[in-house]
Amino acid sequence: MTTTAITHIAALVTNDPSLGDNSPLGLIQDAAVVIEGDRVVWTGESSKAPATDNAVDAAGRAVIPGFVDSHSHLLFAGDRTQEFNARMSGRAYTAGGIRTTVAATRAATDEELSANVARYLAEALRQGTTTFETKSGYGLTVQDEARALRIAARHTDEVTFLGAHIVSPDYADDPAGYVDLVTGPMLDACAPYARWIDVFCEKGAFDGDQARAVLTAGRAKGLHPRVHANQLGHGPGVQLAVELDAASADHCTHLTDADIDALAQSATVATLLPGAEFSTRATWPDARRILDAGATVALSTDCNPGSSFTSSMPFCIALAVRDMGMTPDEALWSATAGGAAALRRTDIGRIGPGARADLVVLDAPSHVHLAYRPGVPLVHEVWRRGERTGARKHG
Ligand SMILES: [Zn+2]
Repeated sequence: MTTTAITHIAALVTNDPSLGDNSPLGLIQDAAVVIEGDRVVWTGESSKAPATDNAVDAAGRAVIPGFVDSHSHLLFAGDRTQEFNARMSGRAYTAGGIRTTVAATRAATDEELSANVARYLAEALRQGTTTFETKSGYGLTVQDEARALRIAARHTDEVTFLGAHIVSPDYADDPAGYVDLVTGPMLDACAPYARWIDVFCEKGAFDGDQARAVLTAGRAKGLHPRVHANQLGHGPGVQLAVELDAASADHCTHLTDADIDALAQSATVATLLPGAEFSTRATWPDARRILDAGATVALSTDCNPGSSFTSSMPFCIALAVRDMGMTPDEALWSATAGGAAALRRTDIGRIGPGARADLVVLDAPSHVHLAYRPGVPLVHEVWRRGERTGARKHG
């Protein structure tokens, strides 16, 4: 197999303390990475790099692991521009929120849904995202949910069944009947395409008992739990996630001390989604409090047309540093290794021997620029599974 070295990296983030300076980011100055096929086979100081078939000069740029976006909702049609505009203009907006997207998604063809996913994935890749999770949740019928997951599975291995996003408008008067549908025929139709099962455990969506029923039914079909928890207020979501060994409790905006203790003593990752608080002018999650308790934190986009229509992990990093008490190092770790932990993956989110060759070359000498220079397109090129994509024509 052909080997390629990327040399003259000003600062390489490995996310492996033992490979670098013993910090969580495992930084190596003046570094090189050697790739063979779709894997990393060597990292170290540029001057010590082994001979390779090809070499690419990073010319003093920083290299980081590809971003792992562990929470997105990309199976949808239409958008909600008017709703956002009204919200940001201080006007009341009474149209149907998620229901608007459900209607548009049901009306879309397979080709339209697939083209939409492909478009947002390409957009995310250009911004350095090399792994993403995505969910159903805008179909809310057996057929429409299974269709969304079938299409999603063509684009990623990290597919999540979220039939329990909201109670389907078709079951407005019979929420218990909808939970029976989700845990019965809908789950049967969806499980073959999904790795994960998720539920929106929140007032106005599904309560603790309903969420437990959904997640345990999914587990019995071989799906692993993750939970939309404690976004809009306090509730049972986080503790339920920990109790069921969910890979991730997502949002975590409103946490009690008991919630934080539970997270800190578990393998459940707290996935923070600052794009949602930005886009709804809501209270920021307190990342500092969660980190200081010793819990693992991931950062993700929550990309969806209603409450967080961004695919940009660098944007989320900047928000986390500015408004959520994270250091630039912590934010980068959470957007890479943290996302990998939230997907229970060890082959991504790091750059070291055996890892998948997913990495981002930044037009900057340090990863700190991701927060220091917010909104600036700093992704010079992206390597995904050992293949160079999105290299700029010049520079
Ligand atoms: Zn979400």
